[in-house]
Amino acid sequence: MSGVDPDRWEVVIGLEVHAELATRTKLFSSATAEFGGEPNTHVDPLTLGLPGSLPVLNVQAVELAIRVGLALNCTVQRSVFARKNYFYPDQPKNYQISQFDLPINADGWLELPSGQVVGIERAHLEEDTGKSTHVGGGGRIHDAQYSLVDLNRAGVPLLEIVGRPDLRDAEGARAYVSELRAVLVAVGASDGKMEEGSLRVDCNVSVRPRGAEELGTRCEIKNINSLRSLGRAIDYEAARQVDLITAGERVVQETRHWNEDDGRTHTLRSKEEADDYRYFPDPDLVELDPDPEWVERIRSSLPMLPAQRRHRLAERSGAAGDAVALVVERGLDDLCLAAIDAGADPARTLTHAEHNLADDRAQELDPAAFAALVRMETDGALTATQAKTVLAELVASGGDPAAIAAERGFEAMDTSELEGMVDGIIAANPDEWQRYCDGDAKITGFFVGQVMQATGGKADGKAVTALLAARRG
Ligand code: ADP
Ligand code: MG
Repeated sequence: MSGVDPDRWEVVIGLEVHAELATRTKLFSSATAEFGGEPNTHVDPLTLGLPGSLPVLNVQAVELAIRVGLALNCTVQRSVFARKNYFYPDQPKNYQISQFDLPINADGWLELPSGQVVGIERAHLEEDTGKSTHVGGGGRIHDAQYSLVDLNRAGVPLLEIVGRPDLRDAEGARAYVSELRAVLVAVGASDGKMEEGSLRVDCNVSVRPRGAEELGTRCEIKNINSLRSLGRAIDYEAARQVDLITAGERVVQETRHWNEDDGRTHTLRSKEEADDYRYFPDPDLVELDPDPEWVERIRSSLPMLPAQRRHRLAERSGAAGDAVALVVERGLDDLCLAAIDAGADPARTLTHAEHNLADDRAQELDPAAFAALVRMETDGALTATQAKTVLAELVASGGDPAAIAAERGFEAMDTSELEGMVDGIIAANPDEWQRYCDGDAKITGFFVGQVMQATGGKADGKAVTALLAARRG
């Protein structure tokens, strides 16, 4: 299969993300919502769908849903719980309680580190299903010998976040899921663990000729368990659709299954014979109309969100793009801002945070010590390489950067000592010096190298370059 020619085709992606909300109990009952556990122990009459059991809405789930809705710039509105009817063995009531035409959160957006703004159509509350394990055969239902049902997960609150088809490639889709996960974790709504199924991504993909207005027919891909699979599935699926159209066939709207092992998507079910869920308002539940004062209290309790933190850091440091995104992702923005406040050069501070602070312990770094280190470097007391070494030690064991530098013999080279050394090297290499004076920029490295060798790496490369330029006049 060929790749997709970006000059001829545009890939369109819209994601539906299900996030398990971090409540103590289930959406409509007091059974624990904890992950895992001995099968069928996190259950109660409602989870089992026993006649006469009635749902009681979990206020904590509603509050978390509102927190996410506000963080995604949605309108929080009056909503109605509806029954979505279908038979499934891991959902004994034979319907799922969800929200249909009136979701709790509507019409928001999420800003990615690239600056792209992706529309959010809705983020509604619903219950999770249980888990079936098909034993024997390939682990799929059709050739299984028998199936086991675990209802521990049935009834756990989910927020289904439906994104608009605003994404255009695998990288953007991955960035969207990462950003959404960061928001969910920041507001305390979810632990964001894809590997435990707390965050599940269904991915809709279509293609259209570049420049076309109308969207192409989409396929929905399920069973994506990591950001890596998400990217692979999109690239595979887009190429499959382009190949079909190029061969004169058409894309059929269907649900497809991502197979991690063969790296392909496979037909799961056709959407055209689709889903008549016979939605109707659940008569056991009243409509949900959150008090505006409560919503405002929730809004004022939200932490600063990743996008706001990126903007703040960019403004105060003058940096932009990937560096800022990475520093915020690592949770080092407060540290950098405190160091900058303490007089550290913003650009050097950001460079260190981007390249030399990947260590988890970097968050505990003392901002004053970090600032002092950056100042020693910008004052010329430490070279970039020496500063990096001292910083690594600060992260590992704390302490005073000046003391660490002294201990390692990183005392600054005296300027006149350095000048004398540069003059000596110029005198010893007249041919190279002539080439330098004639404007051969490549020869600069030769001189810097000579000085470094003579000083055992103690000299500041930038200072040497500046001295050379001054000698040339
Ligand atoms: P369904 O009810 O079948 O899931 P929705 O209208 O709710 O359908 O859309 C689900 C998702 O599909 C949304 O995330 C949306 O962005 C995405 N989507 C809709 N049309 C397209 C398309 N042509 N190409 C890619 N994604 C699409
Ligand atoms: Mg859907």
